[in-house]
Amino acid sequence: AEVTRLGPSPTGFIHLGNLYSALADERIAHKNGGVFYLRIEDTDAKRTVEGAVDLVINSLRYFDIEFDEGAGFPDSDPVNAYGPYYQTQRVDIYHTFAKELVLKGLAYPCFCTEEELEAVRLQQETDKVLTGYYGKYAVCRDLSLETIEENLKAGKPYVLRLRSQGSPENEITFTDSIKGEIKLPENIHDVVLLKKDGIPTYHFAHAIDDHFMRTTTVVRGGEWLASVPIHYELFHVLGFKMPKYAHTAHLMKFDEETGGKRKLSKRKDPELSLDYYRKDGYHPYTMKVYLLTLLNSNFEEWHEKFPDKDINEFPFSVDKMSVSGALFDKEKLHNICKNELSKLSEDDLYEFLHNWALENEPEMEKVWFADKEKLLAILRLYMGVGAKRRRKDFMYAKQIFELISFFFDGESGERDEFRLVDDEVKAILNDYLAAYDHNDDNSMWFNKLKEIADKNGYASDMKAYKANPENFKGNVSDVAEVVRIAVTGRANTPDLWTIVHIMGEEQMKERISRFL
Ligand code: GLU
Repeated sequence: AEVTRLGPSPTGFIHLGNLYSALADERIAHKNGGVFYLRIEDTDAKRTVEGAVDLVINSLRYFDIEFDEGAGFPDSDPVNAYGPYYQTQRVDIYHTFAKELVLKGLAYPCFCTEEELEAVRLQQETDKVLTGYYGKYAVCRDLSLETIEENLKAGKPYVLRLRSQGSPENEITFTDSIKGEIKLPENIHDVVLLKKDGIPTYHFAHAIDDHFMRTTTVVRGGEWLASVPIHYELFHVLGFKMPKYAHTAHLMKFDEETGGKRKLSKRKDPELSLDYYRKDGYHPYTMKVYLLTLLNSNFEEWHEKFPDKDINEFPFSVDKMSVSGALFDKEKLHNICKNELSKLSEDDLYEFLHNWALENEPEMEKVWFADKEKLLAILRLYMGVGAKRRRKDFMYAKQIFELISFFFDGESGERDEFRLVDDEVKAILNDYLAAYDHNDDNSMWFNKLKEIADKNGYASDMKAYKANPENFKGNVSDVAEVVRIAVTGRANTPDLWTIVHIMGEEQMKERISRFL
């Protein structure tokens, strides 16, 4: 079984890319009864934000992704046998291995100041060679023991560096689970393992943590691919087996300005933040389905073929993940929302909307959810129960509430423009009120609309209208539209008779009277 992890830095921002990786991690682990754990990479105190851990856990939980182990579980919980899961609490562990590397001559203290490092860099520019701490430029690599002792006694600050054994002539070869076989030059850099404050760098903590926390596959952003030679060397000198790597491509977006693809950006794209989807009330299930289509190109076909199968049974496969960068597409997401919400049961949808309203619109919740039967009847209208085919009008909570708001917003709602002139509108509405009988069934009601059409010069018979449109002002659908806009404010709605019967006679008449 596979063990995977999410290793977020607690910066207080969790984005779609995190959810994308987390879902991959979760699928890899849970596909075969493995473990998915949460490790907090809090080695950069400046970026650490309070509450960030809860944010990660709650955000992922909202989207139905649960950890089995790690930060968030109490230390006393037996599942947490590989902790601590906060890197700042693991400093003793890192130091134990740092000492061992020093004893073996594989790591050394470096006392270079910022100025000295800058001087090295300038020299390398003059020499037209790669910048970095390596070879003859690694000033502290061969300090004598006496010098080191003197410096330590003098209290000079130092970092601990790897004494790299790599050679620029050699290559390492490894197989990335997404990108396939990769060849990169061996690491030659004496990278920093421990910073001046004794806190490990990402590289050192990664090797130690992923070994001791028994990670089998590391899913992480493609920006780490170039560091694999460093990690390769570290695992080797520490005597640990390397995990498998899956370096994910960035989520991309179609850029209207340039007509090309670009990375989703925190600054330009509000939809990068997971909060965005919670605030607008995207159903977590629709997000999961959407992310699975991004993760594996064959998911959609599978889901269509087996619509009733639990999506967690999808045979997810790391090597089918996008190599070049999955394209985030809002329209696609919305189509998925429409499809998936149309399959939801009324009760599930009601529950979901209710929870969203409680959290986001408590005032509205009191009014809209006061009468459950009424709201269910409204939702049913848009879910198309009884219609020839299911309607697919719903995308996310906020949009759903906008769609049905006319049932609740009284005088305050906006209304679409009438296409007919005021006198025509008034004549039709007056006739409608005069003829209206709340006991009429749908077809009796519609026959009355036809009579009103005839009386006002609109064709009640579509065949007659199509044969000689010039003989009429319009047809019965124009008449229905007038009533529809007067009652709902909208030119497009589901079945009007049903709407009127959910609203009640009184409210319907009040609304029409507004225009008279
Ligand atoms: N803390 C690292 C980051 O946020 C995690 C990378 C990894 O998963 O190894 O980029």
